Amino acid sequence: MADSVVFQSAEAWDGERPQTLVISCVDGRWRPYIQEFLVQGLGISPHTDFMAVPGGVEPLTLVDLIPKDFNFFRRRIEALVAGHGTRRVICIAHQDCSWYAERKIGPVTIDLQGRQLKDLRRAAAWMRETFQNIRVETYFARRIAGDGGAEKVVFEAV
Ligand SMILES: [Zn+2]
Repeated sequence: MADSVVFQSAEAWDGERPQTLVISCVDGRWRPYIQEFLVQGLGISPHTDFMAVPGGVEPLTLVDLIPKDFNFFRRRIEALVAGHGTRRVICIAHQDCSWYAERKIGPVTIDLQGRQLKDLRRAAAWMRETFQNIRVETYFARRIAGDGGAEKVVFEAV
């Protein structure tokens, strides 16, 4: 049996239930910066619950349009709140999200970031209404020009 182990963590197991849930897009390019933001920017433990699908919180805005997607998310958040005692939810959207770009309805000039911000606000409002005593925060991640031509990632509270 021990021969089948291919890796052992350097970090000791921490069994404490996270009380923070992060909801973001799956886009792996942004993941390390999100993790850095959580730990360095917000000063929270890297051991948060993490829910990610392409487009982040978008399913929470689909109660009328695609109720199946909405309910998939709703049921899982409810289970986390009940099982882990979630007290804080951090929702993060990011620049150039391909989910939003591909699902865009209407002319190509449509303001994708505007739609993402609207969805963040709508999802946050639903969570605040549905779960009392939970703090919901919304952030937008985007790139800026850094020193020496390298781009950096900034997070704005929105
Ligand atoms: Zn994305």
